[in-house]
Amino acid sequence: MALADLIHADDDFLPTKALLVVAHPDDIDFGAAGTVATLTDHGVEVVYGLVTSGQAGEPAHLSPAELTEIRQKEQADAAAIVGVTELHWLGFADGHLVADLLLRKAISRLIRIVKPDLVITQTPIRNLERIYAAHPDHLAAGEATVSAVYPDARNGHSFPELLEEGHEPHAVPRIWLMAGTDNNLSVDITTSLDRKIEALLAHHSQNSARADELPAMIREWAEANAIGMTAGAVESFKVVHTE
Ligand SMILES: [Zn+2]
Repeated sequence: MALADLIHADDDFLPTKALLVVAHPDDIDFGAAGTVATLTDHGVEVVYGLVTSGQAGEPAHLSPAELTEIRQKEQADAAAIVGVTELHWLGFADGHLVADLLLRKAISRLIRIVKPDLVITQTPIRNLERIYAAHPDHLAAGEATVSAVYPDARNGHSFPELLEEGHEPHAVPRIWLMAGTDNNLSVDITTSLDRKIEALLAHHSQNSARADELPAMIREWAEANAIGMTAGAVESFKVVHTE
């Protein structure tokens, strides 16, 4: 099927290069790995930006340095399953994210380097019905990324030091927000759902304890998103027009 037949939205925009920016390893895989696989299957180039390395998580007996190494390897393995080989680690501290100018600058730099026409990130709006999805790091990563798309990355006067580094302004026409409400774009992931689950299971250090339940849970979510549609499994997003 053509990509246009797999993206259901009141928007005929089709991306050619997508940048995903999230707070933690495995955030992309929960929210968008099926979409990533669908995009890469159709020749869309996809790049990941990970703001932290998940170094403040479990197991507690491992040091942040050990956790960083494990999480980065797992995320690279998960990315490869859905056709992504370019990952950028921004090196911020897990659990400490705030949408300040430092974070906006780092994401603006990444946008100017990657030059995507689509950015996929976490919603900056707290959904009180889904408190795990509304982790403060997720909200901060989403807020800083939306601010980086507009106005920072496209404005030569934002962070003049980026120009001095040789990073020219770049305008991204669309953002797709994950894990929010008011979703208005659905991606048919029927043929990529198995790879999404495989990508999630590649995060052994985070998901091995629930490896038995996870596949059924993910299938249930994806099928619930697809209710009323011709697709069997769906990931949903809120489209933001930025032009
Ligand atoms: Zn997370």
